[in-house]
Amino acid sequence: MELVPIIYHPFFAHHLTGIGHPECPQRCEVIVNALSKQGLLTKENMFTPLLASLDEVLLCHDKSYVEIVQNNVAIAKRSQAINGEYTLSTGDVQICPDSLDVALFACGAALKAVEIVMEGFFKTAFCPIRPPGHHATTNQGMGFCIFNNVAIAARYAMKKYGLKRILIADWDLHHGNGTQEIFFSDSRVFYFSTHQSGIYPGTGFADERGYGNILNCPIAGGTGSRLNVLKAFQKQLIPAMHKFHPELVFISAGFDAHVDDPLGNLDLTTDDFRELTEILQGIALQHCEGRLISLLEGGYNLNALAECAVAHVKALSRG
Ligand SMILES: [Zn+2]
Repeated sequence: MELVPIIYHPFFAHHLTGIGHPECPQRCEVIVNALSKQGLLTKENMFTPLLASLDEVLLCHDKSYVEIVQNNVAIAKRSQAINGEYTLSTGDVQICPDSLDVALFACGAALKAVEIVMEGFFKTAFCPIRPPGHHATTNQGMGFCIFNNVAIAARYAMKKYGLKRILIADWDLHHGNGTQEIFFSDSRVFYFSTHQSGIYPGTGFADERGYGNILNCPIAGGTGSRLNVLKAFQKQLIPAMHKFHPELVFISAGFDAHVDDPLGNLDLTTDDFRELTEILQGIALQHCEGRLISLLEGGYNLNALAECAVAHVKALSRG
């Protein structure tokens, strides 16, 4: 079993969102502690990211939006705001004086994953990062997200390595409206999402198709929902990839669809995330020599989050 690279920075804990906020600093810590305990994270396979540059962020975001983030964080700094007292002016994202740097490290981790996978050092990588990214659109941070980590990483892979077909598979409880918006008219990226219907952010209907490169599978919460998620990956994503032939696969790995998570009721078990991981591995092996990069999105029950991350990384290690 080869250890999967884990790209992590302790500084992720410095993005403070306020007491009781679900997107809390402990989220990454419980994951790395659980991975360490299981022998899945050692000094050998832990990689430290660099800050993403402004140019890299601009691969997906408008300059005017980046300036909003910079200005909002500067105000938080001047007022010494801590603990989620300030909200990004574009949406429901708590920010503190360190939030910009933490967000740039999160993007930087995704970029590092692209480099080590595309340069052939490893087949896969997992980035337990925060803040999450998939709700961040070209010009709007929202839903706990500042910059769209997975979208920036995908554009970076296209720019630096000349890739023309990238799959982003998003199994987070919520629809990744930001990722969809960024790639709606960029058919080099295929965006696939399962998400609970009728909840935040209210997008992700099946008829939102872009140039045919968007495939949304909204799923009603409650009885049978977990089986419908698995079925969507098997019956919709796998055949779609036989036509698309991705050269690199990303997972927007949110674990908030877990049965114990407080935010929804798609009711996936920990073992379901193992199965979803294996489906994505199968796609990556069939089409792109196993190149698969996983980035943390949501997941707000700390015990379930740690357990799912362990099951996910174990499955990645077996690939
Ligand atoms: Zn989510």
